[in-house]
Amino acid sequence: MSQRDDRSKARRGLVALGGVPSARPGAIWLVGAGPGDPELLTIKALKALQAAQVVIHDGLVSDDILDLAPAGAQRISVAKRKSRHSYSQDEINRMLVAFAQQGLNVVRLKGGDPFMFGRGGEELEAARAAGVSCHVVPGVTAALAASASAGAPLTHRGAAQAVTFVTGHAAPKDGSGFGEPDLNWGSLATANQTVVIYMGLSMAAPISARLMAAGRAGATPALIVENASRRDERRVTTTLAGLAEAASALTGPALLIVGEAMALAQAGEGRTEIETLLREARA
Ligand code: SAH
Repeated sequence: MSQRDDRSKARRGLVALGGVPSARPGAIWLVGAGPGDPELLTIKALKALQAAQVVIHDGLVSDDILDLAPAGAQRISVAKRKSRHSYSQDEINRMLVAFAQQGLNVVRLKGGDPFMFGRGGEELEAARAAGVSCHVVPGVTAALAASASAGAPLTHRGAAQAVTFVTGHAAPKDGSGFGEPDLNWGSLATANQTVVIYMGLSMAAPISARLMAAGRAGATPALIVENASRRDERRVTTTLAGLAEAASALTGPALLIVGEAMALAQAGEGRTEIETLLREARA
């Protein structure tokens, strides 16, 4: 599609929203903010943030990262909160498009990677449908930070030939809330592979029961990492059979990781003393 087609399509979208078309084309940047530690932001994400006029972010993004945007940039939180109206995905999509159609540089800042259980695909589709240009900046997904700080690789010769990222929650079918995920438990129960479960804390009991029923040994090493890469990180080592009990002490955000390679994982809390000293030296 030519740029002119793009622009005329964008203008049509704006008329539908009732705005005033802008002469300057704006753009949407879907930016991965990483797992929390600002040092795990990519240089490209930092540059996108520094060029932002509007930052639309969710709850997983820390203030340390948001403060990297220009002071004059408008910040909008679309985090889900009990006390306030939370935005539907559709409203977020429309907001992104509307700002870009005003000629603004919009950064949609998301925890981890925008395309890893982040609904970035839906935002990209909305931008495409409106003829607004959209760029994607990948981020360090939580699983990579969790495995790094626990010292347990997601793949490991002889112990993990594959790694699978799954969600612990299925999308609601009838608007009645989230349910158990519809996963291929038989394939996830195969030995010598790692299963990383996002959004699985409250579903740890059914998930571990399903994996064991499908044949994965209850003694398979497991790791739970809460707040990976943040100051308040907590790592709990357990087994597949002990997963639910270990999960019950945590409140999240957390990942469940099951697999033989998790035998290498080190339990613990927060950052090591050396890491803290190094950070102070760098600051
Ligand atoms: N796009 C994100 C994932 C969003 S889904 C990414 O790539 O990381 C939200 C889930 O991600 C949480 O329920 C939790 O399971 C996981 N998560 C996100 N940040 C995390 C962190 N710092 N530590 C542990 N788990 C995290």
